This record gives sequence, C-alpha cells and structure tokens, in this order.
Amino acid sequence: MITILDKTFVPFIDQPTLENRISHLASQVSADYKDRCPLFIVVLNGAFLFATELLKRIPITCEITFVKLASYENTGSTGQVRQIIGLEESIKDRDVIVIEDIVDTGLTMNHLIEQISAFSPASVEIATLLHKPDALKKPVEMRYIGFEIANRFVVGYGLDYNGLGRNLDALYVIA
Ligand code: 5GP
Repeated sequence: MITILDKTFVPFIDQPTLENRISHLASQVSADYKDRCPLFIVVLNGAFLFATELLKRIPITCEITFVKLASYENTGSTGQVRQIIGLEESIKDRDVIVIEDIVDTGLTMNHLIEQISAFSPASVEIATLLHKPDALKKPVEMRYIGFEIANRFVVGYGLDYNGLGRNLDALYVIA
C-alpha cells in the first residue's frame, strides 16, 4: 500500500507481469513492421516508461519521436483536449505507431489520430499499455493493447496522480 498526497493506492499489476506482456507486444510489433521502418510517436508524459520498455525490445529499424498532449487533471477528465506539441518529423507516407499509456474515454486518442491522419501517413496504429473499455466514449481502434482494465484510477509505470508516482515500477490502483 502506498500513499500519494491524499490518496491511498494498492498494488494492481506487478513489474514482471507488465514486462512479460510488453515483451509479447514488442514481438508482435517487430513481426508486423519488419522492413517497414515505422515511425513511433510516443505521447508524453504518461507513455515514457511503457515506450522505453517496449522500444528497447523492438530490434527493427525505426524512428522514434515524442509529442505532448494532455486532457487530465486530478482523477477526472476535464473534457479538454489540447493540441499536439512537438511533432516535427514528416509523417506523410509513413507507417505510424502511436504509443500511449492509457486509453480511457478515447477522446485524447481520437483527437490525436485525427491530427496525425491529416498529414497523410501510409498507416496509423495504436499501441497502448492500458485500456478501460467501460470508460470509452468515442470508438478507437487499438491494434496493440497491454491490458484491458476496469474503470478505476491507476498510477505508476509512467502514469501520475497530480504529477506524482510516475517513477513507480509497477501499477497501483486507488484503494
Ligand atoms: P482519455 O482522453 O482517453 O479519457 O484520457 C487519456 C489520458 O488521460 C491518458 O493519456 C492519461 O494521461 C489520462 N488518464 C486516463 N485514465 C487514467 C488513469 O487511470 N490514471 C492516470 N494516471 N491517468 C489517466
């Protein structure tokens, strides 16, 4: 059990389970994109740890870039979706894979995919560590999903609670 600010969190998914699943996803991505030189777009801040663990297990030639886009404050969606910051690579005719920490309502991902698609990539797929199917408000097609989880607030492994907890090496859920 851990406490961050005013909230108590309990263990949810441990590190070996996370890494096992990520290794599996990495093998799938590597097989699917062999000889295609994909462009990975990592959505900061939340996806930094998942992206690190995933990408270091993908031995194919690829390009990696980072963007920022956020829609959350505290433990509830603000409903605001912000613009992509930092997308400098040309994505026209590229095979793009967006790496995200979690798809919750799907609003963030929908908006991001719309913006990326406007640049005419050859293809766009999503790799997300977590997905909350019960929270989905807009349909999102996700090719690579780490874990489908219940609609509860999680922290750790890149995901924060008010800016804290991203460095935890496993996932925790509000008690
Ligand atoms: P969506 O637009 O799909 O509702 O939300 C996506 C973003 O909300 C994620 O990238 C993540 O930053 C944040 N988010 C959604 N659910 C959780 C959660 O359970 N814990 C944390 N820490 N962030 C979440």
